[in-house]
Amino acid sequence: MRNKRILISGASVAGPTLAYWLARRGFEPTVVEVAPALRGGGYAVDFRSSAHLAVLDRTGILDDLRALATGGTTWTFVDDAGNPLAALPPEFTGGDLEVARGDLARVLYERTRDTTEYVFGDSIATLTDTTASDHADACVQVEFESGTKRTFDLVIGADGLHSNTRELAFGPEKDYLTHLGYHVAGWMVPHHIGVPEARIAHNVAGKLIGVLDSRRGPTADVFAFFAAGPLDHDRRDVAGQKRIVADVFADVGWVAPTLIEALADAPELYFDAIARVDVPRWSAGRVALVGDAAYGATLGGMGTGSAVIGAYVLAGELAAAGGNHVVAFDRYERAVRDFVTECQKGGEDTGAFLAPATADAVAVRNVMLGDPAVLAHLLAEGEARAAGITLPDYPG
Ligand SMILES: Cc1cc2nc3c(=O)[nH]c(=O)nc-3n(C[C@H](O)[C@H](O)[C@H](O)COP(=O)(O)OP(=O)(O)OC[C@H]3O[C@@H](n4cnc5c(N)ncnc54)[C@H](O)[C@@H]3O)c2cc1C
Repeated sequence: MRNKRILISGASVAGPTLAYWLARRGFEPTVVEVAPALRGGGYAVDFRSSAHLAVLDRTGILDDLRALATGGTTWTFVDDAGNPLAALPPEFTGGDLEVARGDLARVLYERTRDTTEYVFGDSIATLTDTTASDHADACVQVEFESGTKRTFDLVIGADGLHSNTRELAFGPEKDYLTHLGYHVAGWMVPHHIGVPEARIAHNVAGKLIGVLDSRRGPTADVFAFFAAGPLDHDRRDVAGQKRIVADVFADVGWVAPTLIEALADAPELYFDAIARVDVPRWSAGRVALVGDAAYGATLGGMGTGSAVIGAYVLAGELAAAGGNHVVAFDRYERAVRDFVTECQKGGEDTGAFLAPATADAVAVRNVMLGDPAVLAHLLAEGEARAAGITLPDYPG
């Protein structure tokens, strides 16, 4: 086997899944994660279709995840006074299996920690691919932000929508991210401020604010979503982002003022544009991308299922090619690209669906949600996308 030393950037979903399959097939994975420890918490993510569940099963984590499943929850849309207007049934938001992203990352980490070297609190600073051609002793020289210098045979970017690896090896983010006209924010609030118990949301034109999951632990997850083109802000300036969210929701009623007031004291804020990642080719020499870094779509694009499938296929193709990355990267892309591109399309309508642009459009959306035939059609569309790949079998 050639090219055994493989550096993976990112320890969330795609990274540890890839590490699991690489180690199992005789490679030596190292995962570097910029966060000082495994990132916990976060929103719920879902798997749907036999293809998603088959990868989890083969990875040996399906039962663990079933034990952690949130069970899905009906999402109720309410008016200004809190009266229900429409509801999304649990299978719509939760698919076949819904878990908190943090739980998923922890299960994957525990499954891989004995066979994978994990380095937390560091990040790749420079990458130098020493090959012009597929030469036997070629490698990637990596310098980390910590100053450490190491040599790997291959580097895989599994570092999400704003991938550092992609920036270093493929070029600036603006060339690969397509803004889809919305922003999303998430923060946690304590129960005692009087948040609703259920998964519930309120719309005004182009905006949605709600509580996602208030049953777990002492806090509730607030979810805010609004129409806006690219915003000029510093991604590290949390105070500035809080101001943007507070300004956008200043005119919204229901319990929004309470949720926004609590935002000021929230220890963390997740804030990002809704965007799609379009990378024409997922590898450049000895560097390749997987998961959101290669084919993300912030919401509605089934990114979690696509991340585990892409990671499984990438490791399988590397092993099948005896470590020949040129052959394997090409086969990986051919096996997965059409499937994930189709899944990404689900993300294109998420904004208009969650926060329709006008009050009339919100009313129309609510009427549609009351029609079982429309719901069944939307569910079937998602299922078909998620099932649109026959999972390859790899030797060993
Ligand atoms: C609010 C919200 C709700 C979502 N809901 C769903 C859902 O219901 N269903 C679904 O399928 N998907 C959902 N998604 C998308 C899903 O979270 C992603 O598709 C999935 O997590 C992709 O996994 P990943 O491992 O590729 O990337 P990520 O999960 O983004 O992980 C990237 C990792 O790389 C790390 N990293 C970043 N920069 C560096 C660096 N410089 N060096 C090292 N490490 C770095 C990050 O800290 C992180 O751990 C949702 C996303 C959001 C934002």
